[in-house]
Amino acid sequence: SISYKSLPPPIWAKIKSDNQRTLAVMRTIPNLISLDSSSCCPCNSPRVGWYDSSRPVEHRQCFVYGLLEAFSTTIEVQKCSFCTHGFIGPDATDIGIFNLNNRSLFALTLLDDYTSHFTKSETPFVSWVASTACRYQNFNSTIPFIKEKVFRSAWFSYARLLQLDEDMRCPQCGPIPKVTIWDGVTLSFSRKNLLSTLCPPTSTNQHSQVKSEIRLENSLQFIAERSLRKDIVFVLHGPSLELPRVNEVENSRTNSEYVIPL
Ligand SMILES: [Zn+2]
Ligand SMILES: [Zn+2]
Repeated sequence: SISYKSLPPPIWAKIKSDNQRTLAVMRTIPNLISLDSSSCCPCNSPRVGWYDSSRPVEHRQCFVYGLLEAFSTTIEVQKCSFCTHGFIGPDATDIGIFNLNNRSLFALTLLDDYTSHFTKSETPFVSWVASTACRYQNFNSTIPFIKEKVFRSAWFSYARLLQLDEDMRCPQCGPIPKVTIWDGVTLSFSRKNLLSTLCPPTSTNQHSQVKSEIRLENSLQFIAERSLRKDIVFVLHGPSLELPRVNEVENSRTNSEYVIPL
């Protein structure tokens, strides 16, 4: 992306110790999104092609995608003298706009809207883009919402700029909790890939490394009640729960290791 300055995390994801800087909100669309001394070309990292006010600039049409509708406006660009094919463009995040490629620009609030949908209800890109396109229609946007592929690349470029520090804090245990439980599975795979060899990463086999020094934390069980855990293991691994025929009931009760509470 053309925008490159680091961005604070969304306001709703902040904790007290975070930097209190917040994302700028685009309230009105500027008639011209202009270059300044911090504008540069994305051709190199770290960036080298900076805006030079003594060289000519071009004004071009661009599209700014907001929460409800998109607008056409003008952006100022300058040919990069370093790579000679790229264009230097405004970062624009200070006015609440993320500049993807000097043609498609996005309100930071729109990109953050996807982040909140994704983190609160695991919304895939394609669903969110479809419902945003409906919202644009409801608001009679003269410019339709962008295709999912472009939005996806914009969102990942934006997410790279977010300063999500490694300063997690539990409201009860404080910083650096001994145990954290992560629910990071938001992907799925096709059923045809579901082989019998697939097993959870926690299962062990004869090649598993034995670490004798490890002391487990007490009471980490998801189900705290021991008798309930035993019952669940019994149901999963015990004998079939099919009811035996009447004349076999006596035998099964005496022979079986378990007694099914009928
Ligand atoms: Zn360049
Ligand atoms: Zn805690």
